[in-house]
Amino acid sequence: MREKIETKLSVFGFGGLQNLVTLFNILERENISINDVRQFIAFALKRREENEIGFQKMIAKRDKEMRKLAGNCPKCKTPLRIRTIHSPKGKANVYGYRSHYFCGNEECDYEKYSKEPVKILVKKMVRR
Ligand SMILES: [Zn+2]
Repeated sequence: MREKIETKLSVFGFGGLQNLVTLFNILERENISINDVRQFIAFALKRREENEIGFQKMIAKRDKEMRKLAGNCPKCKTPLRIRTIHSPKGKANVYGYRSHYFCGNEECDYEKYSKEPVKILVKKMVRR
């Protein structure tokens, strides 16, 4: 048996085997079967996947709205992008800018800074 454990389970390392014994003790004590654990893993993976899909959809929707709101570059007509400037007014942000518009086209250098935070800009753009 010792040899079998060494050949079949050595890949998990000594720590892995110790974890296995600890897990097994807990499962036994709590009356949880390995099938219960399999079902839980399947459920958790599905839930994670659904959350991921929901998150991606939310981001895609927000990006689409932002692109629509920001409009196009006056130089090359590529949709503009907006980012929030997090550094407070000071040495790194002399004018106290809060947001930065920049062209989505890497070849184009158009950019515009604003002292209004992205949230306010979005509100204004929604109104126009
Ligand atoms: Zn441009």
